[in-house]
Amino acid sequence: MIKTMKIDVLVVTPPSGASLARAVNHNHPPVNQGIDSVPLRLASVIEEQFVTDFLPLNFLDYNYYKLCAKSLLEIIKSSEPKVVVFSTDYHISNRSTACVNATVGLADAIKASNQNIKIIVTGKHAIVCPEDFIYGGSSIDIAVTSEAELIINDLIRSAANKDKLETIPNLCYLENNCDVKYTYTDKTAPNYDLLPVPAYHLLRNKMDMMLAHISHAANKVYLTLRTSCGCVYNCPFCGGISNWNNYRMRSAKNVELDITHAKKNLGPEAEFTFLDDELFTYSIDHVEDIASIFCLKIILILWEY
Ligand code: SF4
Repeated sequence: MIKTMKIDVLVVTPPSGASLARAVNHNHPPVNQGIDSVPLRLASVIEEQFVTDFLPLNFLDYNYYKLCAKSLLEIIKSSEPKVVVFSTDYHISNRSTACVNATVGLADAIKASNQNIKIIVTGKHAIVCPEDFIYGGSSIDIAVTSEAELIINDLIRSAANKDKLETIPNLCYLENNCDVKYTYTDKTAPNYDLLPVPAYHLLRNKMDMMLAHISHAANKVYLTLRTSCGCVYNCPFCGGISNWNNYRMRSAKNVELDITHAKKNLGPEAEFTFLDDELFTYSIDHVEDIASIFCLKIILILWEY
């Protein structure tokens, strides 16, 4: 059981909802691609204004969401958040759409335990199909239909205070528990170099729990790292969001800060195992700059074709 304090906001990475059979057969590390950097970075933005905690359910309980519900409700009971944010990556479909059913199920469990907690969903599936979360009788209050960093704190404040939401762009929400409403669209995307480091420090008090819950064949907590987002191409089977071609890079200097923050807070029991980038190799200068940081930080790159 994690020691928890009272918080305003709990950011959760929802599980992808493996079957029980797959969950108990999960023997081979890494158990998944690692704890996603995008929700951790969103948690950092939220932490600038609210007392925040982070629960990487996607990395726990073998992705079996009925077990995850038990962990989640225990933490919610002791930390009493006013708002829960289910957060997934904005660009990678198999980190987002794969989690829809578990997100809906966990939201139902939260609302059954406490009607007053506001539930917000962010991520690629909320961008492309918010109606899978927001429908008459849904336990989820608001889906964000863009990357959330520029609006999340105004949204949390409004949701917690039950203020009107129509002045905040890119939302889909329920009014009177039955009417689906949309706010206006703003296509401004966050400057990837101005965002804070992912909140790896919020994982520190969960290291023992994570190491105990992951596959018996694994002995590390795995992390992901993002050095760019989006892609300049439009392959028909890929993309699918309006911001897809808004390709943005994070400077090597800031990526180094991200890595240093993780290593300082989590030590050698955590390891980067996955680059989130859709198109890491677009700029040779970027690849060389990031590779030199990886050399400095002794991170090995395995190229897969
Ligand atoms: S180049 Fe790769 S990331 Fe970009 S659209 Fe095509 S498949 Fe997707």
